[in-house]
Amino acid sequence: MKPLSLAALLFITPIVSANDIAIAIHGGAGTITRQSMTAEQEAAYRAKLEEAVKAGYARLQQGASSLEAVQTAINVMEDSELFNAGKGAVFTWDEIHELDASIMDGRTRAAGSVAGVTQIKNPINAARAVMEQSVHVMLSGSGADAFAREQGLDMVDNSYFDTPRRREALRKAKAKMIKNDHASLWQQHRDYKMGTVGAVALDKQGNLAAGTSTGGMTAKRWGRIGDAPIIGAGTFADNTSCAVSATGHGEYFIRYQVAADICARVKYQGKTIEQAGNEVINGVLNADAGEGGVIILDSKGNISMPFNSEGMYRASIDKNGKVSVQIYR
Ligand code: ASP
Repeated sequence: MKPLSLAALLFITPIVSANDIAIAIHGGAGTITRQSMTAEQEAAYRAKLEEAVKAGYARLQQGASSLEAVQTAINVMEDSELFNAGKGAVFTWDEIHELDASIMDGRTRAAGSVAGVTQIKNPINAARAVMEQSVHVMLSGSGADAFAREQGLDMVDNSYFDTPRRREALRKAKAKMIKNDHASLWQQHRDYKMGTVGAVALDKQGNLAAGTSTGGMTAKRWGRIGDAPIIGAGTFADNTSCAVSATGHGEYFIRYQVAADICARVKYQGKTIEQAGNEVINGVLNADAGEGGVIILDSKGNISMPFNSEGMYRASIDKNGKVSVQIYR
């Protein structure tokens, strides 16, 4: 067969059209009101959210994958004391930090997660390594820490995650806990877990990804694991429906499979992400006192960020390049 000329090759090479890109992030939901924040605190949150969303977006502009963008944005928040993820994670009852994270690829539905890890500086990086470098989806505890070390990820002493603010939150939570009754703690001290981080992104190839990273809930015990590392509960991505990252009272998000339910409504009922998110967050969850919110992105670049709490730290850059940073309702 005659080799093809350069001109012919160019002609038959499909022109990869650059799809719309978009990204949305959250930094936790809860009782966040104007009255409860000083001007300095608000400015600090806004600046960090903007930095994180722009860092992720820059990766998308450079042609990086949505997974890369999600990881980049989450790393910025994990490295900030403001959020309950990585540095600044909440304390457990035993006064250490146990971190959860997960990531999912909407193109292949590959996923990775780590739960209850104590020495990985950026748990979202470990979740990605589980997805790409192991045959598993979920690793936990000391095994997950060992895996991350073998993968050459940055490891830290558990005290690296300490912050005075979270220590004070633990002190208050312990004082209010009646016989380890988490339900009463939830009512009395509703901010004891605020600050989980997450991101969803759409890349130039039209692929979605989602990721979530958290320290869980203040004063958690007995190896408690929340929704963040559970695929379908705190994180979900599928190019044929949507990408979701959640934040809120994890026990409810697990029981109602929040992230997967939203995407299922989009996929099988033809709902928009706005309708589906609203039904689950303000209907299903609200009816059962499940406080929290989600960020949702579909493959056309539509963004929705519903929450049923008083506030949710959130930011996005939509398909037109419009930047938005918001905190309150
Ligand atoms: N969902 C997290 C958990 O239950 C906490 C949060 O998002 O605020 O561990």
